[in-house]
Amino acid sequence: MLTAIALSALAMTVIVALRYLAASALFAWITARRLPGFYAKLGPQMRREIGWSLASAAIYGVPAGVVAWGWQHRGWTQVYSDWDSYPLWYLPLAPLLYLLAHDAWFYWTHRWMHRPRPFRIAHAVHHASRPPTAWAAMSFHPIEALTGAVVIPALVFVIPIHVAMLGVVLVIMTVMGVTNHMGWEMFPRRLVHSRLGGWLITASHHQRHHEEYKCNYGLYFRHWDRLCGTDKGLSANA
Ligand SMILES: [Zn+2]
Ligand SMILES: [Zn+2]
Repeated sequence: MLTAIALSALAMTVIVALRYLAASALFAWITARRLPGFYAKLGPQMRREIGWSLASAAIYGVPAGVVAWGWQHRGWTQVYSDWDSYPLWYLPLAPLLYLLAHDAWFYWTHRWMHRPRPFRIAHAVHHASRPPTAWAAMSFHPIEALTGAVVIPALVFVIPIHVAMLGVVLVIMTVMGVTNHMGWEMFPRRLVHSRLGGWLITASHHQRHHEEYKCNYGLYFRHWDRLCGTDKGLSANA
């Protein structure tokens, strides 16, 4: 049994690492096509980002692998695969609940990590990327990676979700993690500057966090930043 759990943890680590490499490579490639030379001179930094991100993949992979094993063999979690288990209207609601919960957790742990001690010990690694690139998506100190790694494995015990919708959450998590760091805005100006855009976090919002540190702490949504007076708006450079 222990071997099976270890194998599941290892498999999940490999999946998380490959998912990171594929998504970051894709958007780094798009960046190179759209903005040739944009990451010139950032070679050594990008290598560091990849190193930290791969270490984070193991930290993300282990709890996810253990929970995935428990889901398959012990009936753990509220993840369901039968489309009829919950009403159809709940299907799109579940990913939204996951994103809102993840966003709240991220906002407050992120703000805490900007206090001097946790910043020096852990979060400085993420901010060593100046400016961040598409490879910085998982560039975290192990302590910070741990605060992120527990979120989805904990939520699956609390909030029911269809396994396909959990896949949607992971895709959104991956794509936004990468694109929010790549240094340019991929969404059309019409959306970013719309009323809806004013509540969503994309590259031009998170870029400003990397420029000024003490603002724009959110992950997917801007309501916590707005509520707490930490929203400084969009960066002029992304
Ligand atoms: Zn960041
Ligand atoms: Zn930060």
